[in-house]
Amino acid sequence: MKKLVVATRNRGKIVELELLLQGVVETVLPIGSFPGTTEVEEDGATFRENAVKKARYAAEVTGLPALADDSGLVVDYLNGRPGVHSARFAGPGANDKSNNRKLLEELAGVPVSRRNAAFHCVLAYCTPEGECRTFDGTLEGIILEKEQGEGGFGYDPLFLIPGYGETLAQLSMEIKNNISHRAAALFQLKRHLAESDGNPLQ
Ligand code: IMP
Repeated sequence: MKKLVVATRNRGKIVELELLLQGVVETVLPIGSFPGTTEVEEDGATFRENAVKKARYAAEVTGLPALADDSGLVVDYLNGRPGVHSARFAGPGANDKSNNRKLLEELAGVPVSRRNAAFHCVLAYCTPEGECRTFDGTLEGIILEKEQGEGGFGYDPLFLIPGYGETLAQLSMEIKNNISHRAAALFQLKRHLAESDGNPLQ
């Protein structure tokens, strides 16, 4: 594949995708490098809907195949919330701090045995003709009763990985990037690209 657009304005994600796609895609182009493109409203009911919406838009406006992702936290006790609303769980103007506070409030008094959660990530690949394919990744963990660790972002300080006995905010970036929901979805995509001669729709 010669060119692929990535429908994200997050520099970290762009770099991660560039690295992953080395040898499969000649040039990775961020959507921000196309004048006149706008932010897509993430109003879907599922991660898949949002990822497809963003990738489809990027492919349509640029005339090139495009990749987009959507991710968030799913808490069993909260019947899957915050889910697609993870970034704005605490309401308008929400940030990591207020989202984490809200999560702790909603889980106040809930025993550890019922604090299971998972991060989900869906990557969508779409062609300019509107054909899409998606790849999923998850990471399971437990929501702690108070924050632990300074690294990462979002809900990382509350998300304990039982196998390591540490939160995502305590684990090194290297370990997080190996076990994360994003890494798992990227791995699915990469495997598929290798098996389908660089064409994710096959
Ligand atoms: P987005 O996919 O970049 O829109 O992320 C949605 C939201 O999910 C973020 O704002 C975070 O609140 C949460 N989230 C997604 N991935 C992670 C992660 O790896 N660690 C912590 N929070 C995450």
